[in-house]
This record gives sequence, C-alpha cells and structure tokens, in this order.
Amino acid sequence: MPVVTDKRTPLLPVDDAWRQAVALAQPVQETEHVACSGAVGRVAAEAVRAPIDLPPFDASAMDGYAVASSSSAGAGVNLWRVVARSAAGHPATRRVGAGEAVRIFTGAALPPGADAVVLQEDVVATGETIESSAPVQAEQNVRRRGNDVPQGAALCAAGTKLTAYHLAWFAACGIDTVRVTRPVRVALLSTGDELAPAGAPLAPGQIYDSNRFALATLLHQKPVEVQDFGCVPDRLDATRNALGEAARKADVIVVSGGVSVGEADFVRDAAAEAGSLDFWRIALKPGKPLAVGRVGDALFFGLPGNPVSTIVTYLLFVASAVDALAGAKPVPPLGLPATLTGPVRHTPGRREYLRGVVRRSANGLQATVAGDQGSNRIGTLATANCLVVADEGQGDLAAGDEVRVLLLSGERDHLHPAALE
Ligand code: AMP
Ligand code: MG
Repeated sequence: MPVVTDKRTPLLPVDDAWRQAVALAQPVQETEHVACSGAVGRVAAEAVRAPIDLPPFDASAMDGYAVASSSSAGAGVNLWRVVARSAAGHPATRRVGAGEAVRIFTGAALPPGADAVVLQEDVVATGETIESSAPVQAEQNVRRRGNDVPQGAALCAAGTKLTAYHLAWFAACGIDTVRVTRPVRVALLSTGDELAPAGAPLAPGQIYDSNRFALATLLHQKPVEVQDFGCVPDRLDATRNALGEAARKADVIVVSGGVSVGEADFVRDAAAEAGSLDFWRIALKPGKPLAVGRVGDALFFGLPGNPVSTIVTYLLFVASAVDALAGAKPVPPLGLPATLTGPVRHTPGRREYLRGVVRRSANGLQATVAGDQGSNRIGTLATANCLVVADEGQGDLAAGDEVRVLLLSGERDHLHPAALE
C-alpha cells in the first residue's frame, strides 16, 4: 500500500477510507470464557448452540384445560371430567383419556395424551365437570417442546456482538458462560502542549484535554481495555517514543491531535517513522487530516484534534475498526432518510457531517442543522442528536431536500416528535 503523505494527493473518499481502515483491522485471535452476566457487548468467539430443547417440554400457552382433540366434538358441545391439575413447576403425570381434562396453567407441562388447551374463559365449570361449546383444534394454545429452539441449533454465530436479547436467550437455555474474543487493547494518547487535565487550574494559553476523555468514554461502550497513555508533548522524539511503547502494548493506537500540517504537528511523521501510513487526508468535513496506518503490529489512527473532528472520525472509522478487531463484522454507520427543515450551505468536494437535531413527524424524520458548525464547538454536539450528511457531490441544500442522518448513540429510542417543539 502506498504511503500517502503528499498534500497534493487527491482526498480519499470517506467510503474508501472506511473500507481500507476496517480491512487493516485483523481480528484478535485470543478468546476467553466469561460469565453471561458480564458479556453484553462482547463478541462470540464461536457459535453458541442450544444445550436443550426450548421449551424443554410441551407446555400450555394459556390458563385452561388440557384435552385430547381427537376425542372432542370439533364444533359441538363438549363435556369433560377434570381428573388432574398441572401448574407451572408441578406437572401432572396422569394420561388424559377420552372425556377427560386436566386443569392447566400457562407454562405448565401438557399432560400425556393431551394436544390442545381449552381456554378457561370458554368453559363453564360445575364441580368436577366442565362444559364448552368452543371448537377444539389440535395444537391450540400449546407450545411444543423445542419450538423456540431445538437442542443443538445455533443461538448465534461466531462474530456476533452479544446483546441483552442474545444473553436472555442463552439464559433461557441454561447457559451461564460464553466464549468471547478477548477485549481489544486500545492505547489512547492525546497530544498538545496546550492541554491540561480537567480538575487542574488552567495556565495562560492552556485548554482542557477533552478528546482523551471523549474517546475513552466512547470506547468504553465497546469490548475494549483502554490503556491511557496520557498527553504527549508536541515533540517528534516524545511522540515517536510514545507510539513505539503503545504499539508494544496495544492492538490499536488512537491519538488525538498533531496530524495536520502545523509546525507542532508531529504525529504523522512519528507514525511514518515508527511504522507506516496507509492513508492521510480524507474527503471529509470535519476530519480531513485523519491518518491511518500501522505502528509495529498495532493499527494506528491519528485523529484531528479539534474536538468535533475527533469524535466524528472516531464514530465513522475507529468504532468500526474496533468492531473488526474484536472479531465482529463491521458495518458502515447507518444513514436514515430524513427531510431537511431549512437550507444548508455545503461546498462540493468533501462529505460533510453536520450536527443537527432529527425529530419524528407524520411524514417521517425531519432534520434541522444546528447553526455554526465550527469543529471546535463541542457544545453543539452535546445538544445535537444526529449528524446530517451532505454528500461530496452535493452543493447547497434546500428545505425539503432528502438527506441521510446518523443517529448519535443513545438517541434511537427517544427521538422527539416534531410536534413537541
Ligand atoms: P491539532 O489537531 O493538534 O492541530 O489541534 C487542533 C485543535 O484542537 C487545536 O485548537 C487544539 O488545541 C485542539 N485540541 C487538540 N487536542 C485536543 C484535546 N485533546 N482536547 C481538546 N482540544 C484539543
Ligand atoms: Mg496539536
């Protein structure tokens, strides 16, 4: 792969950059066995198979009476004698004969001989006898053994990101541990002589380091072990040494700042000296100077330092690469169709991700771009709930134009209806 560090090289399209970045991310091979209770977000290292039939026995889906459909009048009036009781956890063992019924409750084992459950609402009970004119069909209100999953069938494939729903299904099958890929080791560095940690007083000319905090917080949603390498001063030797040490300890190095063309931007040169760069400069706004390559055996991401650029390039590239390293199939960020509520200025050439607010309406999603898009303005990310995409080929956009929006995490479940405004 050519080393792309020349400013005159055409900007790499975002989609190509995404494909190249995830292709560089080779899945970690080591696996570990973990308790399901702590496995949400981890990636299954092998297919998980059902050790039992689920449900483990034929069961009733309703409260009522278990009967044999073959000995019942299909549509006429039926009279049955109640001969036993089957409650959840207390199965009846007595076989149900012709003219007989077993009182049964939801989740209780269907007694031998029965193949249908008559709803209790459809029955008039008098002492030991019940009467019903409701039709009786085989299998009604019955859950057959194994109908959720038969023993031996796959509950998930290797490479599945485990959700609460997978883990609930495992629990239903009696599984309490699962083999997953080991956490991805991420070395996190910020660069900049101007940076001070939150909590400390600010000296003249200093700002607080928000990128390392933002990246660590976003990364903690992934199956990772974050190694905090702190803030590296703006010097080539210090940067090179930090990258070298990070490469020995991590699967991926994520650096913020120092990848642009300023005199204090040493990260790209240090990465090229200690390793190699696969690409630099993307047709992206914000985030053009993203640099991607390798240092030693570690994947390397140099993210532009402006706080919004850091977060956008993390969401677009690093998040997918971490998924790939963890052994999951990476998927490009999901763009949902939305209608713009107002005009948006956009110069063709780069794909732009603008902070915005998307709301529900009777006509689908409506997106409003949130004013000034300065890439230093982290506050506009906090009040946005999406990134509105203006494609590289597009010029200015008008109200009513169709766009794609990427939901910022956590927004999926509670998008405000437009009417609430
Ligand atoms: P750079 O990419 O290093 O040229 O930085 C671009 C801008 O982002 C500058 O204004 C930096 O002060 C700012 N910046 C760089 N790193 C951070 C950081 N970790 N936290 C907050 N702002 C930063
Ligand atoms: Mg800097």
